[in-house]
Amino acid sequence: MKLRVQNDRPDSKRALKLRESPAVMQPNPSERGVLAGNGLSLNLQPELLTGTPFTATAAAASNADSSEVRVSMTGASGDSNGGASSRRSRVNSHTHSHAHPHSHGHSRGQLHSNSEPELDPPDPDGDSGEPSASLTELRCLFRWIQKSLPFLVILCAKLVIQHVLGLAVGVGLLTTFLYVNKNIQTQVFLQDRHSKLRCIWLLVFLISSTLLLYYTFLSETLYFSLIFLSPTIEPLGFWEILWAVGITNFIIKFLFMGIKCLILLVPSALVTYRTQGRWLMLTEELGQVHQATAPVPLWFRYLVSYQESDGVSGLTTGVLLALFYLILKLLGLYNQRTSLLKTVRIFLAGEHTGSAATRAQCSEAGDVCPICQGEYRDPRVLICQHVFCDKCIALWFNREKSCPLCRTVITDKVYKWRDGATSPHLQIY
Ligand SMILES: [Zn+2]
Ligand SMILES: [Zn+2]
Repeated sequence: MKLRVQNDRPDSKRALKLRESPAVMQPNPSERGVLAGNGLSLNLQPELLTGTPFTATAAAASNADSSEVRVSMTGASGDSNGGASSRRSRVNSHTHSHAHPHSHGHSRGQLHSNSEPELDPPDPDGDSGEPSASLTELRCLFRWIQKSLPFLVILCAKLVIQHVLGLAVGVGLLTTFLYVNKNIQTQVFLQDRHSKLRCIWLLVFLISSTLLLYYTFLSETLYFSLIFLSPTIEPLGFWEILWAVGITNFIIKFLFMGIKCLILLVPSALVTYRTQGRWLMLTEELGQVHQATAPVPLWFRYLVSYQESDGVSGLTTGVLLALFYLILKLLGLYNQRTSLLKTVRIFLAGEHTGSAATRAQCSEAGDVCPICQGEYRDPRVLICQHVFCDKCIALWFNREKSCPLCRTVITDKVYKWRDGATSPHLQIY
Protein backbone atom coordinates (compact mmCIF):
# COMPACT_ATOMS: atom_id res chain seq x y z
CA MET A 1 0.00 0.00 0.00
CA LYS A 2 1.45 3.34 -1.01
CA LEU A 3 0.44 6.81 0.08
CA ARG A 4 1.71 9.58 -2.15
CA VAL A 5 1.48 13.22 -1.20
CA GLN A 6 1.86 15.62 -4.10
CA ASN A 7 2.71 19.24 -3.50
CA ASP A 8 3.27 20.82 -6.87
CA ARG A 9 2.49 24.39 -5.89
CA PRO A 10 2.64 26.10 -2.49
CA ASP A 11 -1.07 26.90 -2.56
CA SER A 12 -2.20 23.82 -4.36
CA LYS A 13 -4.47 21.26 -2.78
CA ARG A 14 -2.62 18.22 -1.61
CA ALA A 15 -3.62 15.15 -3.48
CA LEU A 16 -3.61 11.96 -1.55
CA LYS A 17 -3.34 8.80 -3.54
CA LEU A 18 -3.72 5.39 -2.05
CA ARG A 19 -3.12 2.30 -4.04
CA GLU A 20 -1.88 -1.24 -3.68
CA SER A 21 1.68 -1.86 -4.78
CA PRO A 22 3.89 -4.88 -4.19
CA ALA A 23 7.16 -2.94 -4.51
CA VAL A 24 7.03 -0.85 -1.39
CA MET A 25 10.59 0.34 -1.18
CA GLN A 26 11.23 1.00 -4.86
CA PRO A 27 9.33 3.89 -6.33
CA ASN A 28 8.67 3.58 -10.05
CA PRO A 29 10.31 6.01 -12.50
CA SER A 30 7.30 8.27 -12.70
CA GLU A 31 7.35 8.70 -8.95
CA ARG A 32 11.03 9.47 -9.03
CA GLY A 33 10.12 12.35 -11.29
CA VAL A 34 7.75 13.59 -8.66
CA LEU A 35 10.41 13.28 -6.00
CA ALA A 36 12.97 15.11 -8.06
CA GLY A 37 10.52 17.95 -8.38
CA ASN A 38 8.47 19.28 -5.55
CA GLY A 39 6.87 16.02 -4.48
CA LEU A 40 6.81 13.89 -1.40
CA SER A 41 6.05 10.20 -1.14
CA LEU A 42 4.85 8.30 1.88
CA ASN A 43 5.20 4.54 1.75
CA LEU A 44 3.15 2.54 4.17
CA GLN A 45 4.72 -0.85 4.77
CA PRO A 46 2.10 -3.57 4.99
CA GLU A 47 4.33 -5.86 7.05
CA LEU A 48 4.43 -3.26 9.78
CA LEU A 49 0.70 -2.81 9.85
CA THR A 50 -0.75 -4.66 12.76
CA GLY A 51 -4.19 -4.32 14.23
CA THR A 52 -6.43 -1.72 12.59
CA PRO A 53 -4.26 0.04 10.06
CA PHE A 54 -5.74 3.52 9.95
CA THR A 55 -6.57 4.07 13.57
CA ALA A 56 -2.97 3.38 14.41
CA THR A 57 -0.53 5.89 15.79
CA ALA A 58 1.77 6.97 13.04
CA ALA A 59 5.47 7.13 13.57
CA ALA A 60 7.24 8.60 10.63
CA ALA A 61 10.88 8.37 9.72
CA SER A 62 12.56 9.96 6.77
CA ASN A 63 14.71 7.92 4.45
CA ALA A 64 17.54 10.04 3.17
CA ASP A 65 18.60 7.57 0.46
CA SER A 66 15.31 7.37 -1.36
CA SER A 67 13.89 10.66 -0.10
CA GLU A 68 10.86 8.76 1.03
CA VAL A 69 9.08 8.99 4.28
CA ARG A 70 7.99 5.68 5.64
CA VAL A 71 5.15 5.73 8.06
CA SER A 72 5.23 2.76 10.37
CA MET A 73 1.86 1.90 11.72
CA THR A 74 1.36 0.09 14.99
CA GLY A 75 -2.04 -0.97 16.17
CA ALA A 76 -3.66 1.02 18.92
CA SER A 77 -6.86 -0.29 20.37
CA GLY A 78 -9.44 1.99 21.95
CA ASP A 79 -9.03 4.66 19.28
CA SER A 80 -11.87 3.46 17.15
CA ASN A 81 -14.25 6.23 18.18
CA GLY A 82 -13.93 9.28 15.93
CA GLY A 83 -11.22 7.48 14.03
CA ALA A 84 -12.06 9.11 10.73
CA SER A 85 -11.67 12.67 11.90
CA SER A 86 -8.57 12.07 13.99
CA ARG A 87 -7.00 10.15 11.13
CA ARG A 88 -7.67 12.98 8.72
CA SER A 89 -6.29 15.61 11.02
CA ARG A 90 -3.18 13.54 11.59
CA VAL A 91 -2.58 12.97 7.92
CA ASN A 92 -3.18 16.64 7.24
CA SER A 93 -0.87 17.87 9.96
CA HIS A 94 1.70 15.39 8.78
CA THR A 95 1.37 16.63 5.25
CA HIS A 96 1.81 20.21 6.33
CA SER A 97 4.83 19.53 8.45
CA HIS A 98 6.60 18.01 5.46
CA ALA A 99 5.17 19.96 2.64
CA HIS A 100 5.93 23.35 4.07
CA PRO A 101 9.72 23.27 3.54
CA HIS A 102 9.14 22.16 -0.05
CA SER A 103 6.88 25.06 -0.74
CA HIS A 104 9.74 27.38 0.00
CA GLY A 105 12.00 25.60 -2.43
CA HIS A 106 14.32 23.78 0.00
CA SER A 107 16.33 20.83 -1.26
CA ARG A 108 15.15 17.35 -0.43
CA GLY A 109 18.05 16.85 1.98
CA GLN A 110 16.41 19.32 4.31
CA LEU A 111 13.35 17.17 4.55
CA HIS A 112 12.58 16.58 8.17
CA SER A 113 10.05 14.44 9.86
CA ASN A 114 8.18 14.64 13.09
CA SER A 115 7.95 11.46 15.06
CA GLU A 116 5.04 12.85 17.11
CA PRO A 117 2.46 14.04 14.58
CA GLU A 118 -0.21 14.38 17.30
CA LEU A 119 1.83 17.09 18.98
CA ASP A 120 2.07 19.22 15.84
CA PRO A 121 0.89 22.79 16.38
CA PRO A 122 -2.69 23.32 15.19
CA ASP A 123 -3.02 24.25 11.55
CA PRO A 124 -3.12 28.05 11.21
CA ASP A 125 -5.89 28.01 8.61
CA GLY A 126 -7.68 25.28 10.51
CA ASP A 127 -8.71 23.36 7.40
CA SER A 128 -8.14 20.04 9.11
CA GLY A 129 -10.72 20.41 11.90
CA GLU A 130 -13.58 22.49 10.46
CA PRO A 131 -14.80 20.25 7.63
CA SER A 132 -15.16 17.26 9.92
CA ALA A 133 -16.94 19.38 12.57
CA SER A 134 -19.46 20.79 10.09
CA LEU A 135 -19.86 17.32 8.64
CA THR A 136 -20.75 15.99 12.07
CA GLU A 137 -23.31 18.78 12.55
CA LEU A 138 -24.82 18.03 9.15
CA ARG A 139 -24.97 14.36 10.03
CA CYS A 140 -26.73 15.23 13.29
CA LEU A 141 -29.26 17.38 11.44
CA PHE A 142 -29.83 14.65 8.88
CA ARG A 143 -30.35 12.09 11.63
CA TRP A 144 -32.84 14.41 13.35
CA ILE A 145 -34.81 14.86 10.13
CA GLN A 146 -34.71 11.13 9.54
CA LYS A 147 -36.04 10.48 13.04
CA SER A 148 -38.83 13.05 12.88
CA LEU A 149 -39.83 12.28 9.29
CA PRO A 150 -42.97 10.30 10.24
CA PHE A 151 -44.19 13.20 12.37
CA LEU A 152 -43.51 15.69 9.57
CA VAL A 153 -45.55 13.52 7.20
CA ILE A 154 -48.45 13.48 9.70
CA LEU A 155 -48.19 17.26 10.05
CA CYS A 156 -48.22 17.72 6.27
CA ALA A 157 -51.25 15.44 5.95
CA LYS A 158 -53.07 17.50 8.59
CA LEU A 159 -52.18 20.71 6.74
CA VAL A 160 -53.43 19.26 3.45
CA ILE A 161 -56.72 18.13 5.04
CA GLN A 162 -57.20 21.54 6.66
CA HIS A 163 -56.68 23.35 3.36
CA VAL A 164 -58.07 20.72 1.03
CA LEU A 165 -60.59 23.14 -0.48
CA GLY A 166 -57.94 25.78 -1.10
CA LEU A 167 -55.58 23.26 -2.68
CA ALA A 168 -58.34 21.85 -4.91
CA VAL A 169 -59.26 25.35 -6.10
CA GLY A 170 -55.56 26.07 -6.71
CA VAL A 171 -55.11 22.93 -8.82
CA GLY A 172 -58.28 23.77 -10.77
CA LEU A 173 -57.11 27.32 -11.47
CA LEU A 174 -53.65 26.14 -12.51
CA THR A 175 -55.10 23.56 -14.91
CA THR A 176 -57.43 26.16 -16.43
CA PHE A 177 -54.55 28.59 -16.83
CA LEU A 178 -52.25 26.04 -18.49
CA TYR A 179 -54.99 24.87 -20.85
CA VAL A 180 -56.04 28.35 -22.00
CA ASN A 181 -52.46 29.65 -22.21
CA LYS A 182 -51.41 26.77 -24.45
CA ASN A 183 -54.46 27.19 -26.68
CA ILE A 184 -54.02 30.96 -27.11
CA GLN A 185 -50.40 30.41 -28.13
CA THR A 186 -51.48 27.80 -30.67
CA GLN A 187 -54.12 30.15 -32.12
CA VAL A 188 -51.61 33.00 -32.44
CA PHE A 189 -49.12 30.67 -34.11
CA LEU A 190 -51.71 29.57 -36.68
CA GLN A 191 -52.04 33.21 -37.85
CA ASP A 192 -54.73 33.43 -40.58
CA ARG A 193 -55.74 29.81 -40.09
CA HIS A 194 -56.72 30.25 -36.44
CA SER A 195 -60.23 29.25 -35.43
CA LYS A 196 -62.55 32.03 -34.23
CA LEU A 197 -64.81 29.41 -32.68
CA ARG A 198 -61.95 28.13 -30.58
CA CYS A 199 -61.20 31.65 -29.35
CA ILE A 200 -64.85 32.18 -28.39
CA TRP A 201 -64.81 28.87 -26.50
CA LEU A 202 -61.68 29.91 -24.59
CA LEU A 203 -63.28 33.24 -23.72
CA VAL A 204 -66.48 31.60 -22.47
CA PHE A 205 -64.44 29.06 -20.50
CA LEU A 206 -62.45 31.81 -18.77
CA ILE A 207 -65.53 33.89 -17.94
CA SER A 208 -67.49 30.93 -16.58
CA SER A 209 -64.54 29.73 -14.45
CA THR A 210 -64.13 33.19 -12.95
CA LEU A 211 -67.83 33.67 -12.27
CA LEU A 212 -68.14 30.19 -10.75
CA LEU A 213 -65.24 30.87 -8.41
CA TYR A 214 -66.51 34.25 -7.26
CA TYR A 215 -70.04 32.88 -6.86
CA THR A 216 -68.77 29.97 -4.72
CA PHE A 217 -66.95 32.34 -2.38
CA LEU A 218 -69.42 35.19 -2.70
CA SER A 219 -69.40 36.02 1.01
CA GLU A 220 -65.64 36.59 0.96
CA THR A 221 -65.95 39.29 -1.76
CA LEU A 222 -62.61 38.19 -3.21
CA TYR A 223 -63.21 40.36 -6.30
CA PHE A 224 -62.50 43.44 -4.17
CA SER A 225 -58.81 42.54 -4.46
CA LEU A 226 -58.98 43.16 -8.20
CA ILE A 227 -59.65 46.84 -7.56
CA PHE A 228 -57.14 47.14 -4.69
CA LEU A 229 -59.68 46.77 -1.88
CA SER A 230 -59.59 44.27 0.95
CA PRO A 231 -62.00 41.32 0.81
CA THR A 232 -64.35 40.81 3.74
CA ILE A 233 -62.62 37.77 5.25
CA GLU A 234 -62.57 37.75 9.04
CA PRO A 235 -60.11 37.29 10.60
CA LEU A 236 -57.59 38.21 7.90
CA GLY A 237 -54.72 35.91 8.89
CA PHE A 238 -51.69 34.72 6.95
CA TRP A 239 -53.44 31.81 5.20
CA GLU A 240 -56.42 33.99 4.31
CA ILE A 241 -54.12 36.59 2.73
CA LEU A 242 -52.29 33.88 0.79
CA TRP A 243 -55.63 32.52 -0.39
CA ALA A 244 -56.96 35.92 -1.51
CA VAL A 245 -53.68 36.87 -3.20
CA GLY A 246 -53.41 33.53 -5.04
CA ILE A 247 -57.00 33.66 -6.30
CA THR A 248 -56.62 37.29 -7.38
CA ASN A 249 -53.40 36.51 -9.24
CA PHE A 250 -55.06 33.77 -11.26
CA ILE A 251 -58.17 35.86 -11.97
CA ILE A 252 -56.04 38.76 -13.27
CA LYS A 253 -54.26 36.29 -15.54
CA PHE A 254 -57.67 35.06 -16.75
CA LEU A 255 -58.83 38.64 -17.32
CA PHE A 256 -55.88 39.50 -19.55
CA MET A 257 -56.08 36.14 -21.30
CA GLY A 258 -59.70 37.03 -22.09
CA ILE A 259 -58.51 40.31 -23.62
CA LYS A 260 -56.04 38.32 -25.74
CA CYS A 261 -58.90 36.14 -26.97
CA LEU A 262 -60.77 39.32 -27.96
CA ILE A 263 -57.68 40.55 -29.86
CA LEU A 264 -57.61 37.22 -31.72
CA LEU A 265 -61.29 37.67 -32.60
CA VAL A 266 -60.59 40.93 -34.47
CA PRO A 267 -60.84 40.13 -38.23
CA SER A 268 -57.41 39.73 -39.82
CA ALA A 269 -58.46 42.21 -42.53
CA LEU A 270 -58.39 44.94 -39.89
CA VAL A 271 -55.26 43.94 -38.02
CA THR A 272 -51.97 42.65 -39.41
CA TYR A 273 -50.02 39.90 -37.70
CA ARG A 274 -47.45 42.38 -36.42
CA THR A 275 -50.09 44.75 -35.01
CA GLN A 276 -51.74 41.81 -33.30
CA GLY A 277 -48.39 40.84 -31.78
CA ARG A 278 -47.88 44.36 -30.45
CA TRP A 279 -51.35 44.37 -28.87
CA LEU A 280 -50.71 40.98 -27.26
CA MET A 281 -47.37 42.20 -25.92
CA LEU A 282 -48.89 45.35 -24.43
CA THR A 283 -51.75 43.38 -22.89
CA GLU A 284 -49.32 41.00 -21.19
CA GLU A 285 -47.14 43.83 -19.87
CA LEU A 286 -50.17 45.65 -18.42
CA GLY A 287 -51.40 42.38 -16.95
CA GLN A 288 -48.08 41.87 -15.19
CA VAL A 289 -48.21 45.36 -13.70
CA HIS A 290 -51.72 44.67 -12.43
CA GLN A 291 -50.59 41.35 -10.96
CA ALA A 292 -47.66 43.04 -9.22
CA THR A 293 -49.76 45.80 -7.65
CA ALA A 294 -52.92 43.86 -6.70
CA PRO A 295 -51.52 42.12 -3.58
CA VAL A 296 -49.99 45.32 -2.14
CA PRO A 297 -53.02 46.53 -0.07
CA LEU A 298 -53.59 43.01 1.32
CA TRP A 299 -50.03 42.45 2.50
CA PHE A 300 -49.74 46.04 3.72
CA ARG A 301 -52.84 45.61 5.86
CA TYR A 302 -51.57 42.28 7.16
CA LEU A 303 -48.15 43.69 8.08
CA VAL A 304 -49.39 46.80 9.93
CA SER A 305 -52.08 44.92 11.85
CA TYR A 306 -51.20 44.18 15.48
CA GLN A 307 -52.79 42.84 18.65
CA GLU A 308 -53.94 45.21 21.40
CA SER A 309 -51.63 43.38 23.80
CA ASP A 310 -48.58 44.15 21.65
CA GLY A 311 -48.93 47.85 22.46
CA VAL A 312 -46.80 50.55 20.87
CA SER A 313 -43.88 48.24 20.06
CA GLY A 314 -46.19 45.97 18.05
CA LEU A 315 -47.48 48.93 16.07
CA THR A 316 -43.97 50.27 15.42
CA THR A 317 -42.68 46.89 14.23
CA GLY A 318 -45.74 46.47 12.01
CA VAL A 319 -45.33 49.89 10.40
CA LEU A 320 -41.59 49.30 9.89
CA LEU A 321 -42.18 45.92 8.24
CA ALA A 322 -44.89 47.40 6.04
CA LEU A 323 -42.52 50.19 4.99
CA PHE A 324 -39.81 47.68 4.11
CA TYR A 325 -42.36 45.78 2.06
CA LEU A 326 -43.38 48.95 0.23
CA ILE A 327 -39.74 49.78 -0.57
CA LEU A 328 -39.21 46.25 -1.89
CA LYS A 329 -42.35 46.56 -3.99
CA LEU A 330 -41.38 49.97 -5.38
CA LEU A 331 -37.96 48.66 -6.40
CA GLY A 332 -39.63 45.77 -8.21
CA LEU A 333 -42.11 48.09 -9.91
CA TYR A 334 -39.31 50.43 -11.00
CA ASN A 335 -37.66 47.55 -12.86
CA GLN A 336 -40.99 46.65 -14.40
CA ARG A 337 -41.55 50.25 -15.49
CA THR A 338 -38.49 50.10 -17.77
CA SER A 339 -39.84 47.03 -19.52
CA LEU A 340 -43.32 48.57 -19.80
CA LEU A 341 -41.99 51.83 -21.27
CA LYS A 342 -40.02 49.91 -23.90
CA THR A 343 -43.12 47.92 -24.81
CA VAL A 344 -45.25 51.08 -25.07
CA ARG A 345 -42.59 52.65 -27.31
CA ILE A 346 -42.61 49.63 -29.61
CA PHE A 347 -46.40 49.58 -29.52
CA LEU A 348 -46.69 53.22 -30.57
CA ALA A 349 -43.85 53.32 -33.09
CA GLY A 350 -44.41 49.89 -34.57
CA GLU A 351 -41.42 47.78 -35.47
CA HIS A 352 -40.26 46.13 -38.59
CA THR A 353 -37.44 43.67 -38.87
CA GLY A 354 -35.00 44.71 -41.58
CA SER A 355 -36.13 46.73 -44.59
CA ALA A 356 -38.38 46.04 -47.58
CA ALA A 357 -36.58 43.81 -50.08
CA THR A 358 -36.30 44.87 -53.72
CA ARG A 359 -37.26 42.65 -56.67
CA ALA A 360 -33.56 42.06 -57.41
CA GLN A 361 -32.79 41.00 -53.82
CA CYS A 362 -35.67 38.50 -53.94
CA SER A 363 -34.58 36.90 -57.21
CA GLU A 364 -30.99 36.80 -55.94
CA ALA A 365 -32.25 34.84 -52.92
CA GLY A 366 -33.97 32.33 -55.22
CA ASP A 367 -37.53 33.74 -54.97
CA VAL A 368 -38.37 31.15 -52.29
CA CYS A 369 -38.77 32.02 -48.60
CA PRO A 370 -36.44 29.74 -46.60
CA ILE A 371 -39.00 29.50 -43.78
CA CYS A 372 -42.33 28.77 -45.51
CA GLN A 373 -40.75 27.44 -48.73
CA GLY A 374 -43.30 29.47 -50.71
CA GLU A 375 -43.22 32.62 -52.78
CA TYR A 376 -42.27 35.79 -50.93
CA ARG A 377 -45.14 37.73 -49.39
CA ASP A 378 -44.17 41.23 -48.29
CA PRO A 379 -40.45 40.33 -48.39
CA ARG A 380 -38.03 41.83 -45.84
CA VAL A 381 -34.25 41.83 -46.11
CA LEU A 382 -32.20 41.60 -42.90
CA ILE A 383 -28.80 43.26 -42.32
CA CYS A 384 -27.16 39.95 -43.29
CA GLN A 385 -28.89 40.25 -46.73
CA HIS A 386 -31.11 37.21 -46.15
CA VAL A 387 -34.70 37.67 -47.38
CA PHE A 388 -37.84 36.29 -45.69
CA CYS A 389 -41.60 36.94 -45.75
CA ASP A 390 -42.57 39.58 -43.19
CA LYS A 391 -44.91 37.22 -41.32
CA CYS A 392 -42.45 34.33 -41.34
CA ILE A 393 -39.63 36.39 -39.89
CA ALA A 394 -41.96 38.09 -37.37
CA LEU A 395 -42.96 34.65 -36.11
CA TRP A 396 -39.29 33.65 -35.89
CA PHE A 397 -38.31 36.73 -33.89
CA ASN A 398 -41.03 36.01 -31.33
CA ARG A 399 -38.57 33.50 -29.94
CA GLU A 400 -35.15 34.12 -31.49
CA LYS A 401 -32.67 36.98 -31.74
CA SER A 402 -30.63 35.91 -34.77
CA CYS A 403 -31.10 35.25 -38.49
CA PRO A 404 -32.40 31.68 -39.02
CA LEU A 405 -29.87 31.09 -41.82
CA CYS A 406 -26.57 32.64 -40.75
CA ARG A 407 -27.18 33.29 -37.02
CA THR A 408 -26.28 36.99 -37.28
CA VAL A 409 -27.75 38.69 -34.20
CA ILE A 410 -30.53 41.00 -35.39
CA THR A 411 -32.29 42.12 -32.18
CA ASP A 412 -30.93 42.45 -28.66
CA LYS A 413 -34.07 41.35 -26.81
CA VAL A 414 -36.79 38.83 -27.50
CA TYR A 415 -40.27 40.24 -26.79
CA LYS A 416 -41.70 36.84 -26.18
CA TRP A 417 -45.19 38.03 -25.22
CA ARG A 418 -45.96 38.68 -28.90
CA ASP A 419 -46.78 35.00 -29.29
CA GLY A 420 -49.78 35.35 -26.98
CA ALA A 421 -48.15 33.64 -24.00
CA THR A 422 -49.00 34.62 -20.43
CA SER A 423 -46.36 34.45 -17.74
CA PRO A 424 -47.00 31.51 -15.38
CA HIS A 425 -45.20 33.36 -12.58
CA LEU A 426 -47.35 33.29 -9.43
CA GLN A 427 -47.13 36.77 -7.89
CA ILE A 428 -47.78 36.08 -4.22
CA TYR A 429 -46.45 39.35 -2.78
ZN1 LIG B 1 -42.18 32.83 -45.76
ZN1 LIG C 1 -28.74 35.83 -42.29
